[in-house]
Amino acid sequence: MLHQEMVDKILSAVNSERLVETAMALVKVPSPTCEAREAADRLAEILHSDGFAVERPEADWPQAPAVVTRLESGWPGRTLQFNGHLDTVHLPFVPPRRENGNLYGSGISDMKGGVAAALEAMRALRETAALETGSVLFTAHELHEGPWGDKRQVKALIRDGFVGDAVLLPEYCSSPLPIAGRGMAIFQITIRRDGNPVHEVLRPIDQPLVVRAGAELVAQLFDLHDQVSTNKAPEVGSDSVFVGQMQSGEIYNQSPSECFIQGTRRWITPGEADRVEKQFRDLVAAQSERTGTRIELNYSVQGDAFRILPGHPAVKALQTAHESVTGSRLPLGPKPFLDDGNLFCSFGRIPAITHGPHATGAHTVNECCPVDELVRIAQIYALTALAYCTNEIEVAEERTRDALVLLPMGRLDSGNAHSFESIVMEHVTRGELHLIVDFSHLDFISSSGLRVTLLAAKALNASRGQIVLCSMKRHIKEVFLISGFDRIIAIKESREEALDTFA
Ligand SMILES: [Zn+2]
Repeated sequence: MLHQEMVDKILSAVNSERLVETAMALVKVPSPTCEAREAADRLAEILHSDGFAVERPEADWPQAPAVVTRLESGWPGRTLQFNGHLDTVHLPFVPPRRENGNLYGSGISDMKGGVAAALEAMRALRETAALETGSVLFTAHELHEGPWGDKRQVKALIRDGFVGDAVLLPEYCSSPLPIAGRGMAIFQITIRRDGNPVHEVLRPIDQPLVVRAGAELVAQLFDLHDQVSTNKAPEVGSDSVFVGQMQSGEIYNQSPSECFIQGTRRWITPGEADRVEKQFRDLVAAQSERTGTRIELNYSVQGDAFRILPGHPAVKALQTAHESVTGSRLPLGPKPFLDDGNLFCSFGRIPAITHGPHATGAHTVNECCPVDELVRIAQIYALTALAYCTNEIEVAEERTRDALVLLPMGRLDSGNAHSFESIVMEHVTRGELHLIVDFSHLDFISSSGLRVTLLAAKALNASRGQIVLCSMKRHIKEVFLISGFDRIIAIKESREEALDTFA
């Protein structure tokens, strides 16, 4: 997929000294979450002096507008986004220093080194004029690190359309290549009763006991864990409920008026955030009702679960790039943590891939990142863009019972509808009668894409076959409903339902 000549050009265009200089310049400006204005300004200056046109959208945080730039080929094709955060956790500031091939300092691992590498990839792509189709979008923002930041700026960037067709996040995860991750919510429960704390023996007999209500609730939450943890998948883990903190009472013989419980709820199925939340809220509300206490629940969703097909063009592009640079392929696996990628998947509806330097010390004062690792990822980022920013459609094929299932991935638009059409028609002319198009991995469809599905339906009709569409994301389904295509072609919620139509 990548020509060796182009690979060599990119590898030598990545300039290690320039990259180190950028990384150190970013680390030099302290930027604890909520105070990253100066770091954003510094990054914008660097981009500007490199000749990149810089946009500074406020994105709901005027205190430190985000930093955005683009590299356009001028030809249609996919857009790969590099997205990083510039804020660091609230720890004593460590200035940048270089020693024995390593860089040290606040944020070098998490994630100013990665941001600098993404920028160096843009420079290499521009200097070599290697990008012939599509474009690269670079975004950097603030308010990532919790609990100080609430991710509002990255959410606003997504909302305001600063999204590519896939996004690459330079977090400190160098292996595996994460194609699945759990969603997570943090819950804080405060159980209260009326009145002040009171001596045990003076307590009115019918006064609710918040310690008891809390202890029971914790037991119920662990029961819920036992129940939901049966929902598991080998590549990502299982659903869970975890209580890590419970506090109540001042002394041994006083009946307190408050009990505090804190923990996490994680789930593996994409799109389940609302259902999972409702189940949790119902359980808490029932306990409040039963015990006569007032329970305040603060339930904050940090990101939805996600799953990307191993054959997704973004995954394949990164694998190709990784192999070109290192000679080996990355194992596929789960993402150990939750990052902005989960937000891009759920709010931005685009696949997000986390791949960054093998760096250490994130969230400590001992952050350390080897220079070689920054060079490696800058090369991989540039080559990933080359491999990804084409305008081909990737279509996986699976055979289930007596139907052929096609899974188009990414975008289906005027640039690639034609190639999708020829794939579909090939199967129709070969005598395929039961065709399912599973849309679960399609992120965008244009009117040309609709037209192809209609053509396929007609062709199958003519040969007395049938096509059924299924598993559409909500916004794609809307396109079909608005156009009235749902009255011409069968659309089902799941693949199982689609299969049943042939039974
Ligand atoms: Zn980070």
